[in-house]
Amino acid sequence: MKRLELRDISKSFGALEVLAGISLHVAAGEFVSILGPSGAGKSTLFQLLTGALKGEGDMRFDGAPLDGSPFAFMPQRDALMPWRRVIDNVTLGLEVQGVSRRAAREQVAPLFAEFGLAGFERSWPAELSGGMRQRAALLRTVVQQRDMLLLDEPFGALDALTRAAMQRWLEGMWRRHRWTALLITHDVREAVYLSDRIYLMSARPARIISEIAVPLQRPRTTGSDAARQAAA
Ligand code: ADP
Ligand code: MG
Repeated sequence: MKRLELRDISKSFGALEVLAGISLHVAAGEFVSILGPSGAGKSTLFQLLTGALKGEGDMRFDGAPLDGSPFAFMPQRDALMPWRRVIDNVTLGLEVQGVSRRAAREQVAPLFAEFGLAGFERSWPAELSGGMRQRAALLRTVVQQRDMLLLDEPFGALDALTRAAMQRWLEGMWRRHRWTALLITHDVREAVYLSDRIYLMSARPARIISEIAVPLQRPRTTGSDAARQAAA
């Protein structure tokens, strides 16, 4: 079933044509990437999805016109609120869904170690390195358990080793939970590693120029292997 379906999405900023008719879909449980050059309009597309910007075209979610935001969204920058401690940034997505702060803290606490953030729960975002801030933002996004994940270059600012570790973690979590996810990246290897399908986006004005189903790269882990991996 098609979870998200976009038809002929266009967006201009004044005379600057950014998106020139984007059509794509994401099925339930599918991990899809949009791979495109810097400045193409990838982040703009996500802003249309979250309702931060208005554009033209048809956006459907589970067959109905997109209404509100069923997404857990990780923006490319400024994801953390500087006036909230790291733990309170991470629990925010749960609190807005009505989970008490105490229950939300209990739920997210074990994940701090997995994200290399143990001991930084009470820190302010400004006290973290760029990579740690990014991991905290990703943690906040994945704990929300919304209908679909939107990740805008989630590993962009990480060093190569941390990036690889976080990619492995995300892959394991995805196998375990079968999240429906749309990832934006300009990293070919990242897209191939994580995705079932990749949409290749042209430079601005952006169009989808190719759709690639990723062949099986490696033995796919079973559910229980993935769960062990994710829990490790
Ligand atoms: P990407 O995420 O693919 O790197 P963006 O979607 O951030 O690209 O930007 C695409 C183009 O749109 C860029 O040329 C950028 O300068 C322009 N742009 C993005 N947001 C705005 C805005 N709010 N007003 C004017 N131009 C914008
Ligand atoms: Mg961007």
